[in-house]
Amino acid sequence: MTRYIAPLREMQFVIHELVGLQRTACRTSNGNLCAETVDMLLDEAARFTQEVIAPLNATGDRDGAHWVNGNVTTPPGFKHAYQRYVENGWNALRCDPQYGGHGIGHLAAIAVEEMLASANLSFALIQALNMGAVEALQLSASTPIKDRFLAELVAGKWTGTMNLTEPQAGSDLGAIRTRAIAEGEHFRLYGQKCFITYGEHDLAENILHLVLARTPDAPKGTRGLSLFLVPKYLVNDDGSLGDRNDVCCISIEHKLGIHACPTATLSFGDNQGAIGYLIGDLNAGLRYMFIMMNLSRLNSALQGPALGERAYQQALDYARTRAQGSNSAGHPVAIIQHADVKRMLLMMTSQVEAMRALVYCTAERLDIATRIGDEEGEQQLRRAELLTPVAKGWCTEVGQEVVSLGVQVHGGVGYIEETGAAQHLRDMRIASIYEGTTGIQASDLLLRKVVSDRGAMLMTLLTEMHDAVDSLADKGSPTGGTIALALRAAIVQFSSSVDHLLGQERGVQSALAVPFLMQFGYLCGGWMMVRSASIACENTTSGTAFEPFYAAKLRTALFYTEHVLPKAAAYASTVNSSARCVLDFEPGLD
Ligand SMILES: Cc1cc2nc3c(=O)[nH]c(=O)nc-3n(C[C@H](O)[C@H](O)[C@H](O)COP(=O)(O)OP(=O)(O)OC[C@H]3O[C@@H](n4cnc5c(N)ncnc54)[C@H](O)[C@@H]3O)c2cc1C
Repeated sequence: MTRYIAPLREMQFVIHELVGLQRTACRTSNGNLCAETVDMLLDEAARFTQEVIAPLNATGDRDGAHWVNGNVTTPPGFKHAYQRYVENGWNALRCDPQYGGHGIGHLAAIAVEEMLASANLSFALIQALNMGAVEALQLSASTPIKDRFLAELVAGKWTGTMNLTEPQAGSDLGAIRTRAIAEGEHFRLYGQKCFITYGEHDLAENILHLVLARTPDAPKGTRGLSLFLVPKYLVNDDGSLGDRNDVCCISIEHKLGIHACPTATLSFGDNQGAIGYLIGDLNAGLRYMFIMMNLSRLNSALQGPALGERAYQQALDYARTRAQGSNSAGHPVAIIQHADVKRMLLMMTSQVEAMRALVYCTAERLDIATRIGDEEGEQQLRRAELLTPVAKGWCTEVGQEVVSLGVQVHGGVGYIEETGAAQHLRDMRIASIYEGTTGIQASDLLLRKVVSDRGAMLMTLLTEMHDAVDSLADKGSPTGGTIALALRAAIVQFSSSVDHLLGQERGVQSALAVPFLMQFGYLCGGWMMVRSASIACENTTSGTAFEPFYAAKLRTALFYTEHVLPKAAAYASTVNSSARCVLDFEPGLD
């Protein structure tokens, strides 16, 4: 099994050159976040994730989490690693300094989060949930609630969970039944939630459950959902832990992957009712939960490049050492010498680079939006909201293809658990399901974010893409010219897909939403490659010390253009179909 090495140079390239952290930092209140500080932070994170977190990935997968009488134990080593994670302040990175956070913003934090997820997805998920809970409370809770709960959550001494799903309410949150009955200053909650990530564990002294529930007179559907904070242990006025609340973990799931991460069924109010505190306004719970979900969706998107990177490193290592076949002189060769193995490795790394850049660029927009409140901030927020379902849907689908290729590069041993390649495939599979399936991301994208404004916001993004293409074409590089030409054609083709879908009835739009999302995803990946190629063109001719790095960037961008971007055209043919065969499909009624 290969050691994980954080791809620092790749991350720095995206942060400093492709996205341009300096630009973001200068335009935000966090002007003191200089490139050197970020690089030092990334170095430290690399050391921590490589040495402390990554070694627990395979053992955690093998040992798994265990439930006994309502208590859950995480695999050996997890508790100690979590303590070190908290002591070193990693949990507080992107949180508000008012509550003890470091306020480094989304872009720099996302690189650290990528390392965590690459090193050990099961471990990383607790951080992802914590961040979502912090963000939801920071933006929506009253001051007394923030004062009582936020500092410990920011520090990581307590952890957060997201409680939406119930057995009858998965994608359809309007079907949630958990009840909340007012009782003086608080509410009592009754109901059952399932599939709750880190819903119970032994890593921290308290767990803060953010729970969607409905009050007795609430409107039906999602308009009647309110958000409640339900602590595992009640918290006294002086901040000390009080009695155990009436919430218990009745089981955890046996899963395909992420074995070390407990996925809990929680029962609220089996006795006197679980005490919960209302967050924000009554019946506005889904809006607040979306704050948490949007961050979590971007984090799920990040799992594509994160696990893809880990699988790539492992495949590359194997391909360099496994000998099969011989060269023209009859000498044995490593499989990396075979053209098809090279192709598979490039397929992996080019898509990892495209996914990483897309997720980081979306995070940058969130930084600009959250730190400058003017019209431009609002525009960037809306573009981030448009990009989030694409990043979530596309990166998690492509991530699966990449980790599967990782198995393929290994041949037969890839299918054998001891090799480790299979774990990445099993772990990656969940990412396109939780935080809303690809189907749900696609309807969010097409119906809520494109059809609703007749594609107006989308067009502003396409203009940005055209500008990036013009900039590359102006560099005068023949390879850059080839890449620019292909992306220009892909943008035009995508515009006609948008026009076609805007003219269709809702049923057709729904049937074609996922192919549309995938077409857009491959286009966005191409856009990132154009930006990467532009920077590469500037540096390959300047004779700098990094020239080989930039030459590799240009080669990867060309590979993406020739081998990956054509998938956008394939999806375009589907998007431009009538979808009649889908709509007429009535299995069992033929
Ligand atoms: C390991 C794991 C961890 C999880 N963690 C959490 C957590 O921490 N908190 C939490 O609240 N939940 C969590 N979940 C639940 C997860 O978010 C849901 O499983 C997911 O949203 C899908 O819901 P469902 O399983 O009920 O599937 P369903 O909603 O039944 O969907 C089944 C299929 O139908 C499709 N479908 C359903 N409705 C539509 C529609 N309107 N349009 C198009 N297609 C549709 C879906 O895309 C899917 O393919 C977790 C699940 C797992 C497995």
